[in-house]
Amino acid sequence: MEHKGEKQDFAARLEGIVARSCAGSHPAREEILFLLGQDLEGDKAQLVRRRARALALEVTEGTGRVWSALGLDSRPCSMNCAFCSFGEQWGLVREEHIWTNEEVVCTARLAVAGGASWVTLRTTEFYSLDRLCALAARVRAEVAGDYALVVNTGELDAQAARQLLEAGVTGVYHSLRLGEGTSTRFDPKVRLATMTCVRDAGLQLYTMVEPLGPEHTNEEIADRLLVAHACRASLSGVMARINVAGTPLGGTKQVGEALLCLVTAVSRICAGRRVRDICAVPPTRAALESGANTVTIEIGAIPRSEVTSYRTAWNDFGLTQAGALLREAGYACAVPGEGTTV
Ligand code: SF4
Repeated sequence: MEHKGEKQDFAARLEGIVARSCAGSHPAREEILFLLGQDLEGDKAQLVRRRARALALEVTEGTGRVWSALGLDSRPCSMNCAFCSFGEQWGLVREEHIWTNEEVVCTARLAVAGGASWVTLRTTEFYSLDRLCALAARVRAEVAGDYALVVNTGELDAQAARQLLEAGVTGVYHSLRLGEGTSTRFDPKVRLATMTCVRDAGLQLYTMVEPLGPEHTNEEIADRLLVAHACRASLSGVMARINVAGTPLGGTKQVGEALLCLVTAVSRICAGRRVRDICAVPPTRAALESGANTVTIEIGAIPRSEVTSYRTAWNDFGLTQAGALLREAGYACAVPGEGTTV
């Protein structure tokens, strides 16, 4: 049982961390660990989540946003990340499927018309950069609207990042993933170098704590939040790992919602007033009530599913559902209601 004085001390320390973060001083690793170290079902974790929600409503002025991602290609990938259904060793994806430019432009147009704030062109690791730039330029030319055009693709050097910028891309999603170098064959330094090139080119960088599994420690989570800060990410948050049947992680345990919500809340507190948008995947009302204001909708090739390509929104979570969930959680959003086709 927690004593009243102990609760007050906790609340005071939490307020101190939030106040300093909002004043521009990112929480130290030890402070992040303090917040993450609370009993997930206890009162203190609930307090952290409620405080993060209040901060989210203040920083976003109550505005929820939708991130749309279009998986451009489904094909076996020789990098064989343990959590990805495209790993060629797992044998889940045997045939290539690549979305046509027309399909991509049409889907992007529907997403933007429906109120999505980001259009992300997501590829496997070795998708042609020239092709991606040409496609981005075409989306930019043919899809009018106020939206961020993002790519989520392979490693980039300075020249590749500049090429994307010149094609009309405004930002890149990239992350130093949990377990990088052990669950993946990537050298963490290479992933970080890509993130630096993105920022140096003048592109926005988006990154999250991902893919979160139950074996990841609070120390690893804290370190990823510090990476997001060091890289001056424009969006952060957390994505739970889906353990796809047929991959090495198939059938293993997934993280629970309470952990996802606490990491969401701590992401929000770390963001202070520097970063407006915090995303939680999967999108849940509890996560939106714990500091997230952004949800994702996905279509096309999905690395977190044994089904290789979707013609409609993955998990039946499209713009209509995203808008409804954001509103349920108390956010206003630009996404309309019924009749949206993405
Ligand atoms: S996560 Fe990316 S690099 Fe890793 S196997 Fe999947 S497509 Fe390849």
